[in-house]
Amino acid sequence: MSKILVAGGAGFIGSHLVERLLTLGHEVTAVDNFVTGNLKNLSHIVGNLKVIDHDITIPFDGEFEIIINMACPASPVDYQNIPLETLWVSAMGTKNLLEIARKNKAKFLHASTSEVYGDPLVHPQKEDYWGNVNPNGPRSCYDEGKRFAESLIVNYQNVHGVNARIFRIFNTYGPHMRANDGRVIPNFVSQAMAGEPITIYGDGKQTRSFCYVDDLVDGIISVMNAEKFSGPVNLGNPKETTILELAEMILRLMDSKSEIVFKDLPQDDPKIRQPDISKARKELNFEPKVDLESGLRRTFI
Ligand code: UDP
Repeated sequence: MSKILVAGGAGFIGSHLVERLLTLGHEVTAVDNFVTGNLKNLSHIVGNLKVIDHDITIPFDGEFEIIINMACPASPVDYQNIPLETLWVSAMGTKNLLEIARKNKAKFLHASTSEVYGDPLVHPQKEDYWGNVNPNGPRSCYDEGKRFAESLIVNYQNVHGVNARIFRIFNTYGPHMRANDGRVIPNFVSQAMAGEPITIYGDGKQTRSFCYVDDLVDGIISVMNAEKFSGPVNLGNPKETTILELAEMILRLMDSKSEIVFKDLPQDDPKIRQPDISKARKELNFEPKVDLESGLRRTFI
C-alpha cells in the first residue's frame, strides 16, 4: 500500500486511475480544480480516497510516496478555450508537483502526450522521434506545454535526483468523457444519438489510434510498478483507423441514420498518428486488449 497523489484525479483518465489504485489497496488523494474534471467521475468510488479542490499552479504540500500528474485539459477544443491555463498547469503545476516529489523523495509519474510529436513526419511514432510541432500555432499551448513539462522533469531528475517516469498517452476513450468535450468520439456519438449530422473535419482520411481507457490504465500501473524505467514511453493502442472509418463504425453500432457532413480541417490537425509501442511491450509487458468496436460498445451502448 502506498500513499499516492493523483493530480487531475477527477478528470476522464485520472478518475479511472484513481479507481484502479483504490482497488489495488492504495491510499489515494485526488487533487483537481474541476475546470475539465468533474466530482461525479469519483462519486461512485469506495475506498481510501480524499478529494482536494485545488489548482495545482498554486504551491501546496502533503506527504506522498508516489505522485501522478494527470492534470491538464486534453481536448483540443478545451485547451484552445483556455490556452493560458493549459500552459500554466503544464509549467507551474508540474513544477509544484515536482517540488512535493523532491521533498518527499517520492516517485513522480507524468502524463505526456502523442502531441509532443505534433503533425508527425515519421510513422508510426517511436519515443526517439523529436516531432514536428508548430511552436506558435493553435495547438501549441498544449504541445509546447507538454514538451516544456518533459524538459522540466528530465532536468529535475538530473539536478535533484527525482525518480521520474514519463508516459506519452495516445488518443484514449471510454466512460467519463464529457459528451461536449469536442473530441471526435464524444462528438460522433452525441450526433449519432441525436440524429444530427456527423461532422467530419477534412476528408476523413486522417488517422488516429484509439485506446480503451482500461488498457491505458494497465499501462500506467505498469509504469508505476516497473523496477527499472528509462526515458519516456508511448502508451496507446497501435490499431490505426481513419476518421471516416470511425464515423461509419459509430453509425453502424448505434444503428443511426445520421448523414455525414464534411467541414474544414482545423489548422495543424495531425494527418496521421499511431504509437509504436515496442518499448512498452518489451519493458512493461504492455498489450492493449480491447478492440475499438468492443470499447465503443462498453462506453456508449
Ligand atoms: N474530428 C472530426 N470531427 C469532430 C471532432 C474531431 O472529424 O467532430 C477530427 C479531428 O479533426 C482530428 C480527429 O478527429 O483529425 C481527432 O480529433 P480529437 O479532437 O478527438 O483529438 P486529437 O487527436 O486531434 O487531439
